[in-house]
Amino acid sequence: MAVRQAAVHLIGKPGLRIGAEEITESSGGTVEHVYAATGQTTAPVVLAGPSEIDLAVTTARAAFPKWRDTPVNERRDILLRFADLIVEHATELSDLQTLEIGVPVQLSRQMPAIAADWVRYYAGWADKSGGDVISTWPIRSLNYTLDEPYGVIAGIIPWNGSLMSMAQLLGPALATGNTIVVKPSELAPFVATRMAELAVQSGLPTGAVVVVPGAAAAGQALAGHPGVGKVHFTGGAVTARSVLSSAAEHLTPVALELGGKSPHLVFEDADIRFAARVAMSGVIALSGQGCANGTRLLVHKSVRDQVLDILVSRLRKTKLGDPADEATVMGPVVSHNACQRILGVIDRGRQSGNLVSGGNRSGGDLSAGFFIEPTVFADVDPAAELAQEEIFGPVLSVITFADEDEGVALANDTRYGLGAYVHTNDLRRAHRVSRAVEAGAVWVNGAPGLMPSVPFGGVKQSGSGRIGGLAGLREFLRPKNVWIPV
Ligand code: NDP
Repeated sequence: MAVRQAAVHLIGKPGLRIGAEEITESSGGTVEHVYAATGQTTAPVVLAGPSEIDLAVTTARAAFPKWRDTPVNERRDILLRFADLIVEHATELSDLQTLEIGVPVQLSRQMPAIAADWVRYYAGWADKSGGDVISTWPIRSLNYTLDEPYGVIAGIIPWNGSLMSMAQLLGPALATGNTIVVKPSELAPFVATRMAELAVQSGLPTGAVVVVPGAAAAGQALAGHPGVGKVHFTGGAVTARSVLSSAAEHLTPVALELGGKSPHLVFEDADIRFAARVAMSGVIALSGQGCANGTRLLVHKSVRDQVLDILVSRLRKTKLGDPADEATVMGPVVSHNACQRILGVIDRGRQSGNLVSGGNRSGGDLSAGFFIEPTVFADVDPAAELAQEEIFGPVLSVITFADEDEGVALANDTRYGLGAYVHTNDLRRAHRVSRAVEAGAVWVNGAPGLMPSVPFGGVKQSGSGRIGGLAGLREFLRPKNVWIPV
């Protein structure tokens, strides 16, 4: 496992850096990080507890006036330098991302350039955002808005792609003059810590970005801290409830970017080979651990067999293995616990669908890691756990429908509403279904992923916040209104 050897030296000394302070013993204790591909420990990780969170927020608050008052052209240039540093350290960041969660280098090698683009996009907004002048007729008055930063943003991020999460958070939060404390998952501390070092190196004031890896207690302390101006939470719906209740103590506003059970609708008039190929990504991309993966494949009954044949034959040829090998398409799931949980869902799933592919933990050379075969259940009961719960593993549930109305009804028959995928060659149907599905984003005939200029987020229990585009920028600004009689 070449990446493990190559990247371990990059992790450096365990410790928390909070502003100018280096903390090696903390109230959050220490955990051993485990490489998902081998099950072996890599390095100890010092975790923040409530007292380190308090120090982190105090530090970021102290840095706030200086960063808010930094001229916007300088803010822009610092963020552009940050983006350049991400590109300069691309191999290191990609190796760390692979080591952190076992994502294949085939994918992690693409991430730094994309992350840098997110930062550049928002650097571009730093000197362009302003307020509005508002008509007050019949009162004669000059009325305008000032868009102001919140102060300290509390960013709580999941483990499933810290490189992207950090870029998507730091770009808009910093461009708008906020400072930020980020709590990455205890499972994934390395990339976020390294990204913060690069941000500081790019010229940010000390304390403008503080990264404090920690467990749930650290997240609770951060979301409930009175010094936080806004919480930006990305993670699961269950944790979101806890975050909301922590933030309720001080009525701190919260943006939520949550999970999904995204439908993948394939109509009878679609390009079936292409649709099956795109549907495959719902299982293999990030080993099924992506928030917007299309994990419910809804297929018109006339093309069910054709789609399943293509899908299953391609999945059986998918190369699972060493994430450091350029040929590996699919890596492990993140942890032993995740592996056991997903295998439990697969086991129970045999009661509510027909297992047509996968279903097992990988053996042989891969047995020490947390590898699960890409798994497909056909003819799944729409009310079952397989069709309703976010499994966050390589498991696809296939359900058939008889007509468009039934397809849309099935697509919406979940408490989530993050992404939706529609395959059809009928333009009117594409528009009709895109309007009818309850989702924050709809991809028609393809899945190009997320882009910095495009807003992305959920409806229903997939959250309320947006990343990307102007909507993503506005998450970090609040309008103040000024009246001047004339
Ligand atoms: P979790 O909800 O388990 O954790 C998210 C973050 O919250 C982690 O840093 C976690 O720390 C922390 N946390 C845990 N408990 C608390 C608490 N009580 N108070 C405050 N913070 C807490 O999600 P996962 O990390 O397992 O990530 C997977 C989820 O994230 C999926 O549902 C996925 O769909 C969603 N997601 C959504 C995205 C979007 O853009 N909509 C993007 C990526 C993922 P720790 O891990 O150390 O416990």
